[in-house]
Amino acid sequence: MVKNLIIWSIIFIALTSFFQNITFNYNKNHYQVNYSTFLSDVNKNKISQVIINENEIYVIKKDNSKYFTFLPINDPKLLTTLMNKHVQISGKKPEEVSLLFSIFISWFPTILLALMWIIFIKKMQLGSGKGAMSFGKSKARIFKKNEIKTTFIDVAGCDEAKDEVKELVEYLKEPKRFKKLGGKIPKGILMIGPPGTGKTLLAKAIAGEAKVPFFSISGSDFVEMFVGVGASRVRDMFENSRALSPCIIFIDEIDAVGRKRGTGLGGGHDEREQTLNQILVEMDGFDKNEGVILIAATNRPDVLDPALLRPGRFDRQVFVSLPDIQGRAQILSVHVKKILISKDFDPMIIARGTPGFSGADLSNLVNEAALFAARNNNTFVSMLDFEKAKDKIMMGSERKSMIISKKQKESTAYHEAGHVIVGRLVPNHDPVHKVTIIPRGQALGVTFFLPEEDCLSITKEKLDSQISVLYGGRLAEEIIYGKENISTGASNDIKIATNLARNMVTKWGFSKKLGPLLYIEEEEEIFLGKSVSRTPNFSNNTSKIIDKEIKSIIDNNYIRAKNILEKNIDILHSMKDALVKYETINCKQIEILMKRKKLTNKDFEKNK
Ligand code: ADP
Ligand code: ZN
Repeated sequence: MVKNLIIWSIIFIALTSFFQNITFNYNKNHYQVNYSTFLSDVNKNKISQVIINENEIYVIKKDNSKYFTFLPINDPKLLTTLMNKHVQISGKKPEEVSLLFSIFISWFPTILLALMWIIFIKKMQLGSGKGAMSFGKSKARIFKKNEIKTTFIDVAGCDEAKDEVKELVEYLKEPKRFKKLGGKIPKGILMIGPPGTGKTLLAKAIAGEAKVPFFSISGSDFVEMFVGVGASRVRDMFENSRALSPCIIFIDEIDAVGRKRGTGLGGGHDEREQTLNQILVEMDGFDKNEGVILIAATNRPDVLDPALLRPGRFDRQVFVSLPDIQGRAQILSVHVKKILISKDFDPMIIARGTPGFSGADLSNLVNEAALFAARNNNTFVSMLDFEKAKDKIMMGSERKSMIISKKQKESTAYHEAGHVIVGRLVPNHDPVHKVTIIPRGQALGVTFFLPEEDCLSITKEKLDSQISVLYGGRLAEEIIYGKENISTGASNDIKIATNLARNMVTKWGFSKKLGPLLYIEEEEEIFLGKSVSRTPNFSNNTSKIIDKEIKSIIDNNYIRAKNILEKNIDILHSMKDALVKYETINCKQIEILMKRKKLTNKDFEKNK
């Protein structure tokens, strides 16, 4: 911007001095004399001709010499004097150029401002680097066919999605052969799935396998301040892609432009609608055999305009879901290829401990683990590094520096030990993985459970056990310190337990009195995250029963947990001691404590 200003001011200065020079030039070749000399020349009959231009008098003498002079005051007698001396008098036609110039000069600041404004806006939109004239040009990133190194091997853990898109590769390789055989290939594929599950990766892998160019653009790149820019970008992108066909166009976050039209959302966003219309027009316009395949990604298929999903458009849908245990292990295996890992690396163990992680999260996990190893100057990334990385991502960094009083440490240890012991002794509960009283994020201590497999549905028994375990922490505090001295540390446990119990009664039909009915209206997402819950349609009486049933589930589990802890109070004490001493104990060490044996330093050395 500063550079532009400088350039423009230089131009401005150059132009103004140029105009001044023109008027100067007019006079330069002739010398100036004073008015009285001129008058005496007139009287002496030396003048043959004068040209009068306002107060400036251009004089040609009879000997053909020339000069000019200025009228000091308006001299009304001058003309008569000149006529008497038979001097030829002429005026001067105002210069045409000067009119244009004056217009130009009066408009110059406005033009300058307008130019600067346009440049500024363009800068804003395009960022730096891009050409100045690419207003309506698509912002798609183009990967040439030899630039794409991604193949299906890099995409792990979503085999169904991979299978579904494999035929596209064959088609893109030889569109003509496919055409001859009358093969039908969709023009548009909609990849649906949560963020980070590898939709972009999969689309790119298709291009990589078929060795065709890959256009990548995000839906939000189309949406601009000015109406019509998005649409022209779409046009431009399709034109470019046709020239390079067969190829793949990948539109990430299509919901940014593809939301249902006319919902009144955002005041009927003209620009978005025009852009969406242009996409539809282009999609309908290109022939099936042109060899351009559109792949769009979204995690909100519900908000998309139905017109996008009509046959001939994005009529094929591929679901890319969060990976399951096997998938996570496979994804980890793909990503650890890039780092040096120790021999004890077992992707299954990490996969078990990372339910709900997406491919992107796992790739981040591997990276964090490598960073931990590097920080400790290790030559290999060990399981311990992975464990640390996992805890950091899930719970926030360890807050080792936080100063905790001895008493606080002890009560945290009792609390966590309470969770662990109940967890070990209720039926059908996930095994404890480890327990720590090192504060992380908001929590003072954490007990980690490690499910054997991803749980897709849970039994009532397991839910009851979970509620018991959740109260184990608070109960341990109560048993040791008395009812009056329970801390607020259990608020999150209570919240989770209450929600579980409420869902058991109102959603999952686990209450005998109420039966398998839905007593809760699902919250409906209207749009943009604003939700409204409708008033439940059951009587006051039912509402009382619901409350009673929730209370009874919680009471039963509370009493069960209390009994367990009271019977095993010796283990509670020894586990507290171990936690205060070692801060973190793992499942093997917990096993030893549960058998009422003593933990020794030896048990810790082995595991390091
Ligand atoms: P999305 O487009 O679904 O949001 P991306 O394709 O951008 O997700 O994934 C981001 C990164 O996460 C990828 O570059 C890759 O490193 C990793 N990733 C995601 N899913 C997978 C997968 N299934 N296999 C291997 N890596 C994956
Ligand atoms: Zn707790």
